[in-house]
Order: sequence, then structure tokens, then C-alpha cells
Amino acid sequence: MRLLAALLVLLSALAGAAADAAEPVKLGVLAYRSKDHATAQWQPLAGYLERALGRPVTLTVHDLDEMNAMVARHGADAILTNPANFVLLQQTAGVSAPLATLITDVAGHEVTGFGGTIFTRADRADIRTLADLAGKRVAVASLDSFGTYQIESFEIADAGLPLPRREDLVLTGLPQDGIVDAVLSGRAEVGFLRAGVLEAMAAEGRIALASVKIINRQNIPSYPYALSTRLYPEWPVAVLPQVDRQLATQLTVALLSLRPDSPEAHAAGIHGFTTPANYDGVEAMLRRLRHPPFDRGPEFTVADLWARYGSWMVALSVLVVLLAGAGAALVVMYRHSRRALHETERLAARHDLLLSSLGEGVYGVDASGVCTFVNPTALSLLGLTAEQVIGADQHALFHSHRTDGNHYPVEECPIHLTIKDGKPRDVEDAFLRDGQPFPVRLGVTPMRQGGKLVGAVVAFQDISARKDMEAELQRSYAELEQFAYAASHDMREPLRMISSFLALLERRLGDGIDDEAREFLSFAMDGARRMDRLIVGLLDYSRIGRGGEGPEPVVVAEALDEALANLSLAIDECGARIEVATALPTVNGYRRELVRLLQNLVGNALKYRKPDCPPAITVSARPDGPCWEIAVADNGIGMAPEHFERIFRIFQRLHGAEVEGCGIGLASCRKIVERHGGHIWVESEPGTGSTFRFTLCR
Ligand code: ADP
Repeated sequence: MRLLAALLVLLSALAGAAADAAEPVKLGVLAYRSKDHATAQWQPLAGYLERALGRPVTLTVHDLDEMNAMVARHGADAILTNPANFVLLQQTAGVSAPLATLITDVAGHEVTGFGGTIFTRADRADIRTLADLAGKRVAVASLDSFGTYQIESFEIADAGLPLPRREDLVLTGLPQDGIVDAVLSGRAEVGFLRAGVLEAMAAEGRIALASVKIINRQNIPSYPYALSTRLYPEWPVAVLPQVDRQLATQLTVALLSLRPDSPEAHAAGIHGFTTPANYDGVEAMLRRLRHPPFDRGPEFTVADLWARYGSWMVALSVLVVLLAGAGAALVVMYRHSRRALHETERLAARHDLLLSSLGEGVYGVDASGVCTFVNPTALSLLGLTAEQVIGADQHALFHSHRTDGNHYPVEECPIHLTIKDGKPRDVEDAFLRDGQPFPVRLGVTPMRQGGKLVGAVVAFQDISARKDMEAELQRSYAELEQFAYAASHDMREPLRMISSFLALLERRLGDGIDDEAREFLSFAMDGARRMDRLIVGLLDYSRIGRGGEGPEPVVVAEALDEALANLSLAIDECGARIEVATALPTVNGYRRELVRLLQNLVGNALKYRKPDCPPAITVSARPDGPCWEIAVADNGIGMAPEHFERIFRIFQRLHGAEVEGCGIGLASCRKIVERHGGHIWVESEPGTGSTFRFTLCR
């Protein structure tokens, strides 16, 4: 049984071998010149292989496109093609690694590499280097031609020069002889050619080598052809994927065994085959030029990227994150700063508007008194321009003279003092306009930054008009007082005459007049008396403040005693009780006037008492800051609040003739108090009594 099985295996192996022996081995060869030329060149090799393999070998020749299509449909077992086509087929059709590499024979020399020739017509003096090729019409067989386009292009690219533009290429197709014709006939200016073609055509007597010029000539002594590029390995022989290892091995052995002196080698013009050359350089060149099969970028996956550029990607991501962070921070900062800028601009605009709409002149000075800003009102008041003021020393520019025209030393300048001591000041002063001083009211406010004095802001008003008015008022007031004094004084004389003659008349007529006439006479005398009191009151009023002597310390208690002594009759008459509730101060003032002040107030308290109740008067004092507040309180008839103001005006009375008086007493009190730097007011309720209070500040 086991014997039978072994027999069957042997039989089938023999049958297979018989079938293989019958099946021809198909050898496909690339034709780079004419197909006839190729057939004639390679047919002897096919014959040699047939003998070596002991099987029929059929030869087919193809141009590039045909070669690719044929390999794709597995139309051959082995191929002999140029290196670029081999790399393409290896990548796209699974063609094997090279079995052997061709050795060509050039005039008895072994040549295992080949290159390209870049040439022009010998008379083209303008084309000498690769750089001169730019813009020239270039004849090539086709774009996928290794020998007539790719290797020359790579040389140009490697020199850093631009490749010929597509529109400058003259495509001649195969055979390559067409390239030579195109250049020599002038259809193209330059030709790219597989090295050796020129020499072959010259040998055939079709061209003269002297009619062409080689560009970028390479000097490789052992290489027999004119060369413009580096050398690439000669053509390889490879097998298609369907070919078994045995045939591949047999083919390899046969190829390597071809003797250079054999008739087949001679016929093919080759020296035989050698061990496979390295075609990596060809592949690298195709990649660099992005020629098929490397005309499309490889499909990269993220994993590929990661594997190749992982660390760069990490670094890049970190950089991107950092940049994004920095960008975001910049955006935030930019927005912040824009907002701050807007706010600053808004504030500055408001500040400017505020400054320019102020009725007051305003300017700022730094710690050395130099102006840093100024508003339009200040400029118009000073009669200066901003250019004159900003950066100038304010004291020297417009503050160096007083109102009277005298020089103003900077040490006394209130602005200078505020810059020194940091205290605000509010003073009347003078500035210069057109060299003339004018009065100003000056408010100086210190400017601080971080607690440090950095200057001052000065606000000022021109008070010339007010000063003029005050002076005018003072003058008319003085005139009026003078008039009132003179008039009162002079009026008393005729009044005294009227009174005395009325008294004389009354005495002379004696009992001889009737009651009605006596009553008339009494009215007349009463009127004259009242007129006299009025005039005396007016005289007293206008005399307040006229005393030539200055103020002196006045013991208020003594002034009160004197006032009470003057009123003693009236006090006794109504049985008034007068109490001094607190100690009374000593003040700086005018004694005669203070006696009168107290006398008027106590006198009124007696006069405006309640009919059924004896007056009780209390005098007291209490300190009020630097002043004293003194009060005179009574239990009299009081008054309604609407009269609180009016009673201090001259000739204002709340009573008629039933109570003696002429409405000058409280007006005099106010004048005296104000002369002492204080003020006077009343607190009262009708029927309960009144308290008159006044402050004395001198
Ligand atoms: P006269 O006393 O001469 O009328 P005054 O100027 O002294 O003038 O007073 C003005 C008015 O104020 C008085 O007419 C009176 O009506 C009112 N008056 C003043 N003192 C008192 C007081 N102590 N109580 C109530 N009324 C008063």
C-alpha cells in the first residue's frame, strides 16, 4: 500500500515535469529603441535560455505601457527591463527581487551601470550648464522614461534647479533616436537620452558626434559613453510572482552562466549577467522626483505618524497648548487692556470735559511747582496758551506779584507752601495777566500718590468784580453811615427846639386852654420825644464800630453788671429776678458795645414780660469751639417762629405804640455781635419765653 502511494507521487511529479517541459517560458523585454532592434538583440538570449533550461522560451518585446499591462496580466514568466520600470513593477505587480543584473559590452568593456546624456546642438553657445536649461524646450521620450527623463530630471533637481516645465517638454516617444532628431532639427533645444544612444547612432553613421554638445559632463574614466548624470545599475532580470522557485533558480543559474564570449552574448551586445545590483538608489531617485509608483503620497495613518514623529508630535502638542494658553492669555490681557484703555479714555474725556466746563480756572503743578495741566478757563483768565503754561514754573510765569504790584517771594507763595507741607489752602491772592496783577480767590489742594506729595491742584476765580463791588459797597455804606450820623445829629437840634417851645407854650398858656388843646399839645410833645428816641437810637446804631480804639479783653460779667446798673430802675419797677447761671468768660472785644448788647437783651426781657408774672431772667455761657456762646433767657411773652429772623432787622417791631420802642435794639445787637465775629439768633415759643443766644469769637 505504502509502495503504491510513493509510486503515485512519483508519477504525478513526472507528469508535472513533462507538462512544465512542454510549457514555454515567456521572456518579456523592454524595447527602448525600436521593437525590431530589441527583437534582434534579445532573440539569441532566448535561444540560449531555451537550451540551458531544456524548455521552449518565447521572447516578447514591449514598450513601457505594454510592459506594465503585460506584467499586470502575468503575460510573462521573466522580464528584462530598465531599473525604474523594474522598481515600479516590483511595487505594483509583485515582481521578484532581481535574479541578475545585465553587464553590457561596449567595445569589449564590461559596463554594469548606465546613465543619461543631456545634450544640445554644438552651436548653442548659450546652453552650457544645467542652469541654462531653464525655460528651454527639452526633448524626452516620455515622462515615465527612466533613461530619457527621470535620471536627467533627478540630476537637475539635485543641483537645486527647477525641473523643465511640462509645457517646455517635447515628447518624442520611442525609439530614443527621435530625441536626437528633435534636437538636431531644432524642434527642441535640449535632449535627454540614455547614455550610449548618441554613440550607437554615430556608429551607424546617422549623426556626427561633433554636431552635439554634452551638458554637465561627468568624468568616469571606465565609462565609455558621454555621460551627464550619475550611474545607475544596468537592467535587471526578475520573475513574476506566479513563477516557482525552481524555475527562478534555473533561470538565475542560466543567466549567470552566460559566457561573454558566447555567440548569444555577442549577438545581444552584452557581456553577460552578474549578481543582482542594488536598486535602492533608483527607488530613492523615483521617490525624490515623485515618479510612479511614488507619484502618490503614501497613506499615512495616525499610528504611522505617531511611530515616526511621536516625540515631535508630543513636543508640538505641548507647544500648541502653550501657544494656545499664551494666545488665550494674550486675548484676555488684550481685552483687559482695551477695557482699561476705554475706561481711561472715557475718564480722560470726562476729566477734560469737566475741566473745560468749569467756571473756575484749574491747573496742576508737580512737586517743583511746574505746571502739568491747565484748563481752558485758567488759560483765558491768565491770557496764556497751554504751550506757554505746561512745563513752566507757575510762580515765575504768573504769580510773582501781589495785588499792589509788589514782588512776591516764592517762599511765601501758598502753592509753594502746600507743595511743601501738604496742607490745603484757601486764600485771596493775585495773579498776573499781561503783566498786571488781578485779585484771585485761590484754593490749593495737595496731590498725593501712595502717600507721597507729588504736587498740588490749584483752582482759582478772578475776584476783581467782587472786590470792586465790595469796595463800592464799603464806600456807599460809609457814606450812608456818615449821612445817617450827620442827619441824626443835626435833626436833634431842631427837635430839641420843638420840644422846648412846646413846653414853653404849655407853661405860658397854663390853665387857659381847653382839654382838647392840651391833648393836642401833649401829642405833639410825645411825638417829639419819640422822634428824639428814634434819632438817638439811629445815632447809637450808626456809631457801632466807629470807636477808634481796638479790641481789648472784656470780662463779660463786668459788662453785664454795668448793663444791669443802667437798667436798675426798670428792674426794680417790675420786680425782675436776674440770675447768672454759669461763670461768664473774658472775651476780646469792645467793652462799650458789649455792655449795650447785654443791656438791649435784658431790657427787652423786661419790656416783653407777661403782665401777670414778674420777669425771671437767666444769663449763662458755654464754650463753643474757639468761641463762647452766651444766652439771655426770659419767661416773657415769647414769639412765633416766623418772626425769628425779622426781629433782627432795623425798624422791625412786633408791637405797636403800647410798648415803647423803635425797632433798633435787636438790629444794633446783631451789628455788635457780627463786629465781634459771631452771630445771634433767638429760640422762643409764644407764652413761654424767649432765649437770645449769641457767640463771641474775638
Ligand atoms: P423795640 O424793642 O424797640 O421794639 P427791638 O429791636 O429791641 O425793638 O425788638 C424788636 C421786636 O422784637 C420787638 O418789637 C418785640 O416785638 C420783639 N422782642 C424783642 N425782644 C423780645 C423778648 N424778649 N420777648 C418777646 N419779644 C421780643
